[in-house]
Amino acid sequence: MEYNFLTKCVHGNGRDTSCDGSGAISFPIYQSATFAHKGLGESTGYDYSRLQNPTREQLEKVVASLEHGTDALAFSSGMAAIASLMELFQPGDHIIAVNDLYGGSIRLFDHISKKNGIKFSHEDLSKVSLEPLITPETKAVIIETPTNPMMNVIDIQKTAEIAHKHNLLLIVDNTFLSPYFQNPILLGADIVIHSGTKYLGGHNDTLAGFLVTASEDIAERLRFIIKTTGSGLAPMDSWLILRGIKTLGLRMDKAQENALAIVKWLKEEYRVSKVFYPGLPENPGYEVCLRQSRGFGCMISFEVESRELAAHILKHVRLIQFAESLGGVESLITYPITQTHADVPEDILAANGITDCVLRLSVGIEDICDLIKELEGVFESYGRQHGEQEG
Ligand SMILES: *Cc1c(COP(=O)(O)O)cnc(C)c1O
Repeated sequence: MEYNFLTKCVHGNGRDTSCDGSGAISFPIYQSATFAHKGLGESTGYDYSRLQNPTREQLEKVVASLEHGTDALAFSSGMAAIASLMELFQPGDHIIAVNDLYGGSIRLFDHISKKNGIKFSHEDLSKVSLEPLITPETKAVIIETPTNPMMNVIDIQKTAEIAHKHNLLLIVDNTFLSPYFQNPILLGADIVIHSGTKYLGGHNDTLAGFLVTASEDIAERLRFIIKTTGSGLAPMDSWLILRGIKTLGLRMDKAQENALAIVKWLKEEYRVSKVFYPGLPENPGYEVCLRQSRGFGCMISFEVESRELAAHILKHVRLIQFAESLGGVESLITYPITQTHADVPEDILAANGITDCVLRLSVGIEDICDLIKELEGVFESYGRQHGEQEG
């Protein structure tokens, strides 16, 4: 029997009674580097924690089940997951990547994977059609939807159909919506990426990454890579992410409710020139998002009237903290141009509209009145310093 989502977050798909017979409710942290064998040719199923560890394995089962994958692998960070994913490719292979990817992914592709002979095209797949970009060397398409930080929405099912027609892998970074709001494998994706540091962990206390696979064959190749390169997640960190996942659905619901209220507030603030949120009917991706996702998420980007106001906000927020990252219970505000996207080439920044007036807000689960009061306060103090002279 398959449990429903919220139950799977708490229990996994079916209670795991295999651990140690103690009746422990919380899955144990198997803090062991190696495992003893009973005799020659006899194994408990565990040999050495670089290959597999019971706590990491439990986490992988839960994440695979939340994403409807055949398997999932847990890495020491999102970037470790993506770097390991690149090991599936050979020199000469071509990958089409959406141009508004997480900045760290672009840095990895341009500075490490490219050196290893893999070629990339960065394209705005929310607007440009995919098929004409495909060459005989093309092996995969990598997308995020909604994109970071501009919230462009890409049709996963349509992209999967074109990718599969040409024998390409479709890889979707699903960090922003989490499996609670979106399941790319059900829409045709072959591999799903997560930075587990974000919503899955949910508390800004642990780094983790995942690759979830739709086929056994790819999972097997990735298992070889994880055991060979040693990029797997440690037992203690695996346990922290397991604990974070227990409240994933509750956190996402509350944070999204807060995000919707903040979007409404930002829309009415005249010093905010643009609000980027997939849940706004005027967002070009609204209809696609409605069709392929169960929610619009808890991430908002917005453009203010000047760089000076952006700097003022970053300097004066207190409850909302000025920090990189997203997806935790704490609200964080980020300045993409110097933080998450600092290493992204200028032409890509300009093409995406990531200017020095754009801020990105990861909405947490605090009381909404306190969050709005904080925003009102920082805009008012800017107005007192600047606006009043304007009359
Ligand atoms: C943070 C993030 C990553 C990288 O994950 P880390 O855990 O920080 O290494 C990759 N993709 C997206 C969309 C992210 O937000």
